[in-house]
Amino acid sequence: AKAWHLVRRPQGLPTIDDFALRALPDLPLEADQLRVRNHWLSVDPYMRGRMNDAKSYAASFQLDQPMTGGAIGEVVESAMDGFAPGDIILHMGGWRDGDTIGLEMTPTKLPADLLAAGMPPQTFLHNMGLTGGTAWIGLLRIAAAKPGDTVFVSAAAGAVGSAVVQIAKAREMTVIGSAGGAEKCAWVKDLGADAVVDYKAGPLVPALTEALDGLGKSGVDVYFDNVGGDHLDAAFALANDFARFAICGMIDVYNDGKPQEMRHLIRTIPARIRMEGFIYTDQFFDCMEEFYADMAGLIASGAVTMRETVRDGVEAAPDAFLGLFSGANIGKMLVRV
Ligand code: NDP
Repeated sequence: AKAWHLVRRPQGLPTIDDFALRALPDLPLEADQLRVRNHWLSVDPYMRGRMNDAKSYAASFQLDQPMTGGAIGEVVESAMDGFAPGDIILHMGGWRDGDTIGLEMTPTKLPADLLAAGMPPQTFLHNMGLTGGTAWIGLLRIAAAKPGDTVFVSAAAGAVGSAVVQIAKAREMTVIGSAGGAEKCAWVKDLGADAVVDYKAGPLVPALTEALDGLGKSGVDVYFDNVGGDHLDAAFALANDFARFAICGMIDVYNDGKPQEMRHLIRTIPARIRMEGFIYTDQFFDCMEEFYADMAGLIASGAVTMRETVRDGVEAAPDAFLGLFSGANIGKMLVRV
């Protein structure tokens, strides 16, 4: 088996030379371990933060060690109670084609009924996993969005954003999505968004104002932030009174940490904006049952669909990861091993 190792801490945007694909030792299976062959690997923007040597909510990757991340694999040999060869599992031993893993990689069997009903296993890396869960928690719990609200969501053609658009539409909200470029904007519209803003086509405040005017809306009740920077500032500019902002991510500043100019931040006061950052893993276990039931229903009814951008082979993992920062993905970026 082979795994991607972080061999240098990236400065700014990572490059392929920051990573090396190295053979893993072929060790005998010990008690409480599984031998796993991976089928799908997730690449996620939060992994950029783990490449820094700085304290954050997810531990830093260690240099010259295999990186970790969400993966779907098949058990080929088991010395762990409750697991048998052939089981399809979600676990954290990603960035590799296979390995022996222990409990620290949090292996979880995928629900057999959903797999039998035809749900593709990689769904548990997006709509039924981290990105769908983040969308659901951020929109419904953190921002407490309700039918009739006007929701603005950035990176709306990405994994989290496309789930936010669809969950919000299923709950009878008005949705404005922003994305980079005509193709992505057209897809966000196809998902049901009432209006779209192409942030690469011009400044955001006039574009968002025009979108709101076109829908006869006075402003934004809920902003779901995936981007930070100008997007967040535009949301401050156009927030309705008592707007709620779910601060999920700020991909605009992950690589260069550039200062974010918030000319409209002062509107927090007159508009009485409530803003809350959140981390999926803090919230998930509290609402797991409700999330799985609701999301499985939304998927089964066709209200939430999934689109993937797939790169093939473990070799492609860094390229897939880097593609998140250039917008190479529509929907969820995945690696098929
Ligand atoms: P996406 O699938 O949305 O991929 C990233 C997208 O971001 C790209 O496709 C690109 O789309 C857009 N993007 C990249 N750089 C910029 C930029 N400078 N300005 C505007 N848009 C940019 O990734 P995810 O759905 O996995 O993640 C979305 C956000 O959610 C991220 O910020 C991530 O960190 C956050 N997140 C937070 C979690 C939490 O627990 N708080 C959990 C999971 C994700 P485009 O072509 O439109 O620019």
